[in-house]
Amino acid sequence: MFQINEAIGNVQLMQKINRLKVLNYIRRHSGVARPEIAKNTGLSPSSVTNIVSYLLEKKLVIETGRVATREVGRKATLIKFNPLAANVISVNIEINKIIIAVTDLEGNIIRKKEIKLPKKEKEDVILKDIEKGISSIMSDKQRNSEHEKIIGIGIAVSGVVTGDARLEISASMQWKGLPLREYFEKLFNLPVFIQNNSKTKALAVLRQNGVEADENVIFLDLAMGVGIINLYKNEINEAVAGEIGHTTVKKDGPLCFCGNRGCLEVMCSVDAIINQCKELLTKGKCPVLRKILEKKTNEAKFVEVGDSNYQEISEDLNDKYDNDINDIEQHISYEAILEAFNKGDKDVEKVLSECAEYLGIGIANIINIFNPSRIIIDGDILLESDFIYEKALTEARKRAYEQFTRNIKINKVEIDANKAIKGISHYVTDKIFDLMGP
Ligand SMILES: [Zn+2]
Repeated sequence: MFQINEAIGNVQLMQKINRLKVLNYIRRHSGVARPEIAKNTGLSPSSVTNIVSYLLEKKLVIETGRVATREVGRKATLIKFNPLAANVISVNIEINKIIIAVTDLEGNIIRKKEIKLPKKEKEDVILKDIEKGISSIMSDKQRNSEHEKIIGIGIAVSGVVTGDARLEISASMQWKGLPLREYFEKLFNLPVFIQNNSKTKALAVLRQNGVEADENVIFLDLAMGVGIINLYKNEINEAVAGEIGHTTVKKDGPLCFCGNRGCLEVMCSVDAIINQCKELLTKGKCPVLRKILEKKTNEAKFVEVGDSNYQEISEDLNDKYDNDINDIEQHISYEAILEAFNKGDKDVEKVLSECAEYLGIGIANIINIFNPSRIIIDGDILLESDFIYEKALTEARKRAYEQFTRNIKINKVEIDANKAIKGISHYVTDKIFDLMGP
């Protein structure tokens, strides 16, 4: 009896595996005919016909158009994955905001909400915010579609994630050892997948543009710290899981959250630039930046008292430089720093220049370790400064092995928070449908 049950179990398991094989072939090769599926999955044409009928019935695939075959007068129907078959909740946690979205199975956003975070908010408060955000976006469902079916939740976060489940350490969020999957699975009773957000962005780039089969690509993410992902043979190379952002580039540099000193991401970030400029301001340096900040401080004071003669008086006051350093520091921003640089502040130029040099050292190290054919950079806010970008590349070419830089392609891509959302959505769908994972 036991043997019979086991045999039935095996047949059912084989049936499931074959269905997934066909479904995944269709997902990865949109618009395919049944004979092509049979040829590439190794299944018999009759099995493929049965499985496709089952998938059509479950609305996981749809028929789309017809294509001529070699047999005269015959046309084969093309089959396509149906991204509207189900939905995913995608969450992207960044330093100052959380985006929560409902997507279809190809990462297209159906609706989303954004939660602003105050700087350095405590982890339990942020997790509660995410919980509330997910609950509220799920309860909107009736208004949008009564057929919505959520099959999983994906959460993208910076730092080291193990087993799709646990955030070990995130220097940019200043979090350690959080069992995020366990936390959210208990709350929502759905499969939950946690992934590093550089990886999810790389996945979005990969699915959108693809890379050539023989290309060895490094995706360099500067959005939250410094992270790299290796794209190889058109997949994310999971074997490369290092933390380039925490390699030492300055022996006695400032302390990093990871416990080390002079890490690349401490030496080269928007925060590092802001902190250095603040320090120089207290020493009476950065004259152009000071003038910009004085103006902002004066304007803010007038907004506060609501003076009706604002224009007239502020012009007069903008020439006064008697604000307290603590007052003007409150108005410092990367935008103000770049403005001061563009207006010729030599002290600010020195700070940006040093940051660019460290980034250049980081890129040179990446080139010498991986010998990539292409580096794709998500420069985020930091590389809004073309000066830093150009100088970093010059520095990298100067330091890296010449044979490796001769034919290398380096380009910057625009990645917005929606791409990270798209990437984590792809990841969840891959995990749920793929036999082997992404
Ligand atoms: Zn570090």
